[in-house]
Amino acid sequence: MRLLIAEDDQVLADGLLRTLRSSGAAVDHVADGAQADAALMTNTEFDLLILDLGLPRMHGLEVLRRLRARGSKLPVLILTAADSIEERVKGLDFGADDYMAKPFSLQELEARVRALTRRGMGGTTNLIKHGPLEYDQGGRVASIEGKMIDLSARELGLLEVLLQRTGRLVSKDQLVERLCEWGEEVSNNAIEVYIHRLRKKIEKGPIRIVTVRGLGYCLEKINA
Ligand code: CA
Repeated sequence: MRLLIAEDDQVLADGLLRTLRSSGAAVDHVADGAQADAALMTNTEFDLLILDLGLPRMHGLEVLRRLRARGSKLPVLILTAADSIEERVKGLDFGADDYMAKPFSLQELEARVRALTRRGMGGTTNLIKHGPLEYDQGGRVASIEGKMIDLSARELGLLEVLLQRTGRLVSKDQLVERLCEWGEEVSNNAIEVYIHRLRKKIEKGPIRIVTVRGLGYCLEKINA
């Protein structure tokens, strides 16, 4: 899961980064509206935008308006000042999916983020089933026939991306984009290694990750 935070309050941004990273997401941070706008134009692999409205250089509402004007359906959670009902209403009118008024508990924010990203993937529960494999997006645990599988953070991330796109090709570049934050170096070779490890752990019964040579990977559909 990959998230973008646009927040100019460094202390709050650090808290958000820590919390969301510890729940396993790849999180990028920008501190002004113009940077947020640029990041959203060049990178379409985000699963959620957490957007402070009071941003320097471009107001959060303008960032949101421009995002929606480009036709993006990216889930957006806005952060507003506690007293500003007007801003909240405007934000929702401009196409935000949810809001949190400052100050808020990081625990509640985590829960909202889970709900929104789940909705973005078209699901209403935290559980993804794939044949005998079950993946709980909330708890980030995978099991096969009820037996928990021991996966590293990277392997979990990979599995999550593949499960979200079952039956579809996912390129190595897409995997790198989805798994890594800016400035993190992960080569295509490293992706091969992670896939290799993941395969050893999950390829049981009908579960299969197909390599499409030169193009990428695909978690094969299982016909029920
Ligand atoms: Ca602010």
